[in-house]
Amino acid sequence: MKTRVDPDLCTGCELCVDTVPDIYEMNDDIAVVKVDVVPEDLEEDVREAAESCPAEAIIVEE
Ligand code: SF4
Repeated sequence: MKTRVDPDLCTGCELCVDTVPDIYEMNDDIAVVKVDVVPEDLEEDVREAAESCPAEAIIVEE
């Protein structure tokens, strides 16, 4: 699985960073992805972060 954040949509609420800090981090006011490929044990957390993102800015590629 891969994930990325659309910088045009992200509002910088930091919810994804709080939910999956091993995958998302803040870069200035925008969340960015720290890894190339999501480790299997974090895939469910990433799906949850994508569903919870209030700006629908998180893209998940299965
Ligand atoms: Fe941006 Fe969505 Fe993460 Fe909030 S949850 S920081 S809007 S990507």
